[in-house]
Amino acid sequence: MAAQQDPGTGGVLVFSEHVETQGELLTLGRELALRLQRPLAVLAAGREAETLHDEALARGADEVLVARSLQGGTLADEFVAQALCEAVRSSAPAIVLIGATRTGAELAACAAQLLQVPCASSCVALEMDAAGQLEVDRRVYGGRFVSRQRLSTAPRLVTVPPKRFPRAPAVDAPKGGTRELRLELAQPRIRTLSVNPRSRSQVDVSRAEVIVSAGRGVRRIEDLAALERLAALLGGVLAGSRPLTGDVDWLPVDRRIGLSGQTVKPNLYIACGISGQIEHIVGMKGARTVVAINNDAKAPIHDEADYSIVGDLYEIVPALIKACEKAGASS
Ligand SMILES: Cc1cc2nc3c(=O)[nH]c(=O)nc-3n(C[C@H](O)[C@H](O)[C@H](O)COP(=O)(O)OP(=O)(O)OC[C@H]3O[C@@H](n4cnc5c(N)ncnc54)[C@H](O)[C@@H]3O)c2cc1C
Repeated sequence: MAAQQDPGTGGVLVFSEHVETQGELLTLGRELALRLQRPLAVLAAGREAETLHDEALARGADEVLVARSLQGGTLADEFVAQALCEAVRSSAPAIVLIGATRTGAELAACAAQLLQVPCASSCVALEMDAAGQLEVDRRVYGGRFVSRQRLSTAPRLVTVPPKRFPRAPAVDAPKGGTRELRLELAQPRIRTLSVNPRSRSQVDVSRAEVIVSAGRGVRRIEDLAALERLAALLGGVLAGSRPLTGDVDWLPVDRRIGLSGQTVKPNLYIACGISGQIEHIVGMKGARTVVAINNDAKAPIHDEADYSIVGDLYEIVPALIKACEKAGASS
C-alpha cells in the first residue's frame, strides 16, 4: 500500500501484544482520536488475541479488529506484522500506535517497510499541532538527547515505550464493535523449538559493598576467574558491562551495571577494562570510591575515578590479588 498524503482519512489504531501496554496506548489513542474527531480502533492478534479483544472493548475502544488465520489456529508472531498491515489497509488510520516492547519494535519496523511508510520509534511524547500534523519527542543517542520530529505522511507509525501513560479506565457500558480480519498465510518459516530462561546469579549486585566489574578489556571467559578471585578477597562480587552480560553471556544478565542493567552504590567499585560510556556510568556513579584500571589514558572511565590506574589489567589484577593475599596472610 502506498503512503497516503497527509492527513490520512481514518482515526487511531493501537496494537500491543501486552494487555497492559495496550491499555496505556488506549489512553493516548483516545486523546489523539478526540482531537482528530475520529474513531479509536485496536488490533487484537497473536497468542493473547482473545484477552486483548475483551480488554480493548472493556476500556473503551470503538472497534476491535481480530486477526485470524484462514487456516485456523493462533497467529504466529511472524504474521502479526502482516495482520497489522491488513488492519491499516482496512481502516486507513491517520496514526498507528504500537507498544515499544521488543516484539512491538520489530513488528513496527517490519510493517513500516511492508507499507513503505516512515516509523518513529520510542516516542515519549506526542502532540498534534494546529494544522493536524503529528509531532513526536524521541529519545536518541542512548537517551542522552530528545529529538522533536514531525511526521507528515499517513499512516504515521509510532512506537511508544510501556509505562508512559496510565491505563485507560474500564468504561461502564462498552459500545465498541468487533470485526474479523481473515488472513491467508503462508507456512511459518520460523518454528520456536524451545524457550529456556537465561542463567541468573545467586547474588544481588545491587546490595554489594564491593564490586569488581569486568569490561571488554577482558579477552577470554577464563580470565574472569582472576577478577572473581580479587572480588572474593575484597569480600565483594563480580559484575560487568553490557558486552560481557549480553553480547556474550560470560556473566548473567542480572550482573550488568548500567542503563539497561543494575544501578549500584557500593563503597568500592573497581572497573577493569571498561571504557566508561555514559550507559555504564549511570549505573555506578553512586559508588563511594571508584578505581579504574584501563590501559588507555584517554578512556572516559578515568574521569569518573578516584584512583586511575593506566595499565594492563592482566598485570594490575594479579598484582592486586597478590597484595590482598599478602595483607590477608599478615593480618
Ligand atoms: C540503549 C543502550 C543501553 C545500554 N546499556 C548499557 C548498560 O546497562 N551497561 C553497559 O555497560 N553498557 C550499556 N550499553 C553499551 C555502552 O554504550 C558501551 O558499549 C559499553 O558500556 C561498553 O562496554 P565496555 O566498556 O566493556 O567495552 P569497550 O567500550 O569496548 O571498552 C573496553 C575498554 O577496555 C580497555 N582495555 C582493553 N584491553 C585492556 C587491558 N588489557 N587492560 C586494561 N584495559 C584494557 C580499552 O582501552 C577500552 O577502554 C548500552 C548501550 C545502549 C545503546
